[in-house]
Amino acid sequence: MLLGFKTELKLNNQQRTALMKHCGVARHAWNWGLALTKQILDHNKVNPDSKIKFPTAIDLHKWLVALVKSDQQWYYECSKSTPQQALMALREAWKRCFNKTAGTPLFKKKGKRDSFTLEGTVKITRDNKIQVPVIGVLRTYERLPQVLTKSATISRQADRWFISFRFDVEQQESNNTDVVGVDLGVKNLATLSTGEVVLGAKSYKKYQAKLSRMQWLNRNKIIGSNNWKKAQMAVARLHRKIANIRKDTLHKLTTLLAKNHGTVVIEDLNVSGMMANHKLAKAITDMSFFEFRRQLTYKCQLYGSKLVVVDRWFPSSKTCSNCGTKKQALLLSQRVFECGHCGFVIDRDLNAAINLKRSGSF
Ligand SMILES: [Zn+2]
Repeated sequence: MLLGFKTELKLNNQQRTALMKHCGVARHAWNWGLALTKQILDHNKVNPDSKIKFPTAIDLHKWLVALVKSDQQWYYECSKSTPQQALMALREAWKRCFNKTAGTPLFKKKGKRDSFTLEGTVKITRDNKIQVPVIGVLRTYERLPQVLTKSATISRQADRWFISFRFDVEQQESNNTDVVGVDLGVKNLATLSTGEVVLGAKSYKKYQAKLSRMQWLNRNKIIGSNNWKKAQMAVARLHRKIANIRKDTLHKLTTLLAKNHGTVVIEDLNVSGMMANHKLAKAITDMSFFEFRRQLTYKCQLYGSKLVVVDRWFPSSKTCSNCGTKKQALLLSQRVFECGHCGFVIDRDLNAAINLKRSGSF
């Protein structure tokens, strides 16, 4: 089974420059190839009797080497697999266009969906490091799966860089039939249908308080001054620390879920949690939710368990997990669910988790 993995890179300036250069080469090769292939198509339209054969990716690369590379010295500073892969992607894009499964390929603009692919020896070492051709060793924020892969794609989103690769794994046979429902929240990180509650990192709250205090202390600093800059840096560092703590907790939770259950049931969007608190909590839960789902998706694949994502309109909080009666409304402040029909009383989050479990058990 082929799995995909994507994670953020932790870069220094030199590496960032090298990655930008590679993006430049990939974009240049793509745009050059696109212009050329468009000319060929135009020519063939006008001259139906003397059509030029539409080039393969290999043809395109041969022409690129002969016609372009010698004039563009910066191509030699980058891996030769980068333009090759860009042209292969272009050829695939044309194929999809000819099959009518996609539109005409578009020219790439700098800074918009920058990415490139490297082919060759990609080595993953134990401590959050990955070695790629030409650029060398890159660091990541999270532990990488210990696998073999022969190519990696690096992409940029604003000022963040990501690496992704595919690898083959033998799917672990899971004869675990256990189903677990998970309700994510703000107060507790997660409530499982088993009654287990994952609190989240303890230190998280402590840092959160420190952060508020720091921001309050900074209120009178002159914007742009050295002291202000220093303070901004410290705030940014604390933000990152908090994010990392949360991420680490998420890793533990997702591993626990995927490894020990046959089926994991979650909600599409954490609606209950999202509305429960003020803006900051919303932002944090929002981010965590996507990270939670990303981790859970690949870990479930890895451990051979099934991930069921329940429609976001499923009334997981409003339904009684005992008799199935649906309430009209449930205030967010009500932390305990009380059924008006059967008189069942249960913790609100646990009730939701049990309902999720049930909806994924079919
Ligand atoms: Zn009931």
